[in-house]
Amino acid sequence: MTVFGPLRVDLPVDEIPKFWYNITPDMPEPCPPPLDPVTKAPAGPDALWFFPKSLIMQEVSTERFIQIPDEVRDIYIRMARPTPIFRAKHLEEHLQTPAEIYYKYEGISPLGSHKGNTAVAQAYYNREEGIERLCTETGAGQWGTALSLGCAFFDMKCTVFMTRASHDQKPYRRTIMELYGAQVFASPSKETEFGRRLLKEQPDHPGSLGVAISEAIEAVRKDPKAKYSIGSVANLVLMHQTVVGQEAKKQMELIDRKPDYVIGCVGGGSNYAGLCYPFIHDKLKGKLQAEFISVEPKAIPSFTRGTYTYDFGDTAGLTPLFPMYTVGHNFVTPPIHAGGLRYHGKAPSMSTLVKCGVIKPTAAGQQEVFEAGKTFARLEGIVPAPESAHALFMAMEVARRCKERNEKKVILFNMSGHGLLDLGGYSEYLSGKLPGNWEPKQFALDDLPYKGKL
Ligand SMILES: *Cc1c(COP(=O)(O)O)cnc(C)c1O
Repeated sequence: MTVFGPLRVDLPVDEIPKFWYNITPDMPEPCPPPLDPVTKAPAGPDALWFFPKSLIMQEVSTERFIQIPDEVRDIYIRMARPTPIFRAKHLEEHLQTPAEIYYKYEGISPLGSHKGNTAVAQAYYNREEGIERLCTETGAGQWGTALSLGCAFFDMKCTVFMTRASHDQKPYRRTIMELYGAQVFASPSKETEFGRRLLKEQPDHPGSLGVAISEAIEAVRKDPKAKYSIGSVANLVLMHQTVVGQEAKKQMELIDRKPDYVIGCVGGGSNYAGLCYPFIHDKLKGKLQAEFISVEPKAIPSFTRGTYTYDFGDTAGLTPLFPMYTVGHNFVTPPIHAGGLRYHGKAPSMSTLVKCGVIKPTAAGQQEVFEAGKTFARLEGIVPAPESAHALFMAMEVARRCKERNEKKVILFNMSGHGLLDLGGYSEYLSGKLPGNWEPKQFALDDLPYKGKL
């Protein structure tokens, strides 16, 4: 076997980025502002009362680069940054593709996913402002785990509302969060008025990220020492994740490669934005030719089958209205194992980039995603998180296309996390019991808070 080029590309620790990249000033067209849900006028920073001031400033910032505090960079070191890029050589051989397949591996973090990149930053800024407790939602549990550790590092309390479907599928996630010192509730829960109402209507409600966000915000409303922390969707989160793509750019330069395809899975959009926004910067400046492909589950297809309009970020309607592709905040998302992708909407900036044609959205079904995950585990050793396996699946599709056309392209995708706590899903897959490919016929688009498209 001949090995072409390095199989693993690392950066020295002092190459951890010193700035986060904010795509706002470089957008091909401006992202519409959030709206007040009652007046429908552009919402001011006050509408984001549940965040601390410094993070609100980041959310609305038009600065291209925001300095990363030293304390946060120090923790990035402990969380295994800079993360490696691997070349999936065995996968290339298996597919008999002339394409080269590279992946940025965020699963190497002690948290097993990319989510610590923003969790640590958010805990830091909240603590700087004297906040003592953070409340949040979690789907698969990765975000709740990340924030639990972020709070532990900064000696803060953490309350996590975990969607019931994931809570019941992934009991060990709860254990990790409790190990890091967090308090965890299955959502909908009896802790909030909203949760109690939903449980009364539907005692076996599977929960959703939208519902859990509503519960977390309600909890913040009742505690003046608490703030809300969000794991995706918000611009500040996408920005914190750009350490991933900035490192990846340097790593690809080190091996003298430019990606032709940059691929990532999308729940709210943070891991993919983290990888692709620094590359999109280059594309918009005419320095790169790459294609950008997002992958979402067919069960919750907001980019591929949803509507681009204003919608609430949560289910109870406690947030401002955000401009995004959505399947409706009342859509009850099917309980796919990729819990991190069970969200009705998408990040506003990424929605604008999809609308402008910069990012091409695609979708994958649960069966084919687990199939790809199994193949990868056997060939490359890493068990992909079911979320990341969406990106993997599409990278394999593109590599197959390259084979048909005999094109020697360079594919880069984000392996946003490992799946060692998602073995319940893999076990169902292996025993042939994995629920099939949900493709909902109907979405919850009749009761959108905003009439008309964008
Ligand atoms: C949460 C999560 C996702 C989805 O969230 P994004 O904000 O879209 O990145 C993807 N992969 C993993 C491993 C996750 O934990």
